[in-house]
Amino acid sequence: MSLKIIPKDAMAAFVGSLLGAYRVIGPLQKEAKFVFGPLESPDELRLDYDTSILPPKKYVLPQHETLFEFDASSFETKAVIDDQPTVILGVHTCDLHAMQLLDAVFQKTHLDQHYMARRENTILVGIECLDPCDDHSFCKSMGTLTPPTGGYDLHLTDMGDSFAVDVETEKGAWLIVHHAQARDAGDDDYARINAVMSEKWPRFPYKLDFDIGELPALMSVSQKSPLWQQLGDICLACGSCTNVCPTCYCFDVSDKVDLSLTKGHRERHWDSCQLDEFALVAGGHNFRPSRAARQRHRFFRKGKYQTDAYGLLGCVGCGRCARACLVDITPVKTFNELYRQRTGGPRN
Ligand code: SF4
Ligand code: SF4
Repeated sequence: MSLKIIPKDAMAAFVGSLLGAYRVIGPLQKEAKFVFGPLESPDELRLDYDTSILPPKKYVLPQHETLFEFDASSFETKAVIDDQPTVILGVHTCDLHAMQLLDAVFQKTHLDQHYMARRENTILVGIECLDPCDDHSFCKSMGTLTPPTGGYDLHLTDMGDSFAVDVETEKGAWLIVHHAQARDAGDDDYARINAVMSEKWPRFPYKLDFDIGELPALMSVSQKSPLWQQLGDICLACGSCTNVCPTCYCFDVSDKVDLSLTKGHRERHWDSCQLDEFALVAGGHNFRPSRAARQRHRFFRKGKYQTDAYGLLGCVGCGRCARACLVDITPVKTFNELYRQRTGGPRN
């Protein structure tokens, strides 16, 4: 829509004004790490964070949530909907791409009123990554180093003494008009932002040995790769990789009944396809009992199934699963090894 400029010394006033009207979530420092959490004051915001332990996904799809309350004696149910107006600040471009996938899953194919209520009341403010988070990130290979079209409301780029603000939606424009001291960008600003963008590009390495467009086809011919057994032999089935992943959305539901045995609530919580009991069904049958089969399933979800179903990436290259895995199972090593097995070596 438009490009605005907010001087850095006006950012505190911008965030302070947002705090008066919204729940404001952003990257905060927690000991030596960063987490997304609710801001209490503007000076807690750390837009210079590298990566967060959990993705901002947890504010649209929480780890635990109550779906509805019920009274079995009267057969009444009441949906519990969280529609608190929220602004999430400082979302990296990989996590914006991941949010687009969640939107497709919960708002387009399987309408989920709980997700939709949160998402419709959430304003996303992205930030351009100017350096890789660390050695594990491979966003450039996955095509997520720039924000997805239509996948944010505002997007910030650090220009030194100011932020350039790409205003993408009406919601974003509302924030700028009502909460920020911003000016229109001029020719000098466009020249600076172009320079910032062209300088950042070489700082990000390609990590995959092949083009990302080849990944679904590569997965199709890798069903019987011996790699799955090798990964299954070392995997601890801890579920850390899926718990930190911005594109994982599997959940389980359970009913909690109070002492009267009539009233209670149904809740859902994140689940993990890597856990031994994930595919355990009534009758005691487990249709994915081996860790090898579950590793294959996980990587097929990331490299093929989501692209087939939604036309979007199932992995956005954030590197969180690689950081979390105690036995060093990573998407980069896995995809590159599958490529090596099919072709004999990396692309020149
Ligand atoms: S699979 Fe790993 S690298 Fe890919 S999006 Fe999930 S956590 Fe990030
Ligand atoms: S984090 Fe590593 S060890 Fe744990 S389930 Fe995932 S791949 Fe297996």
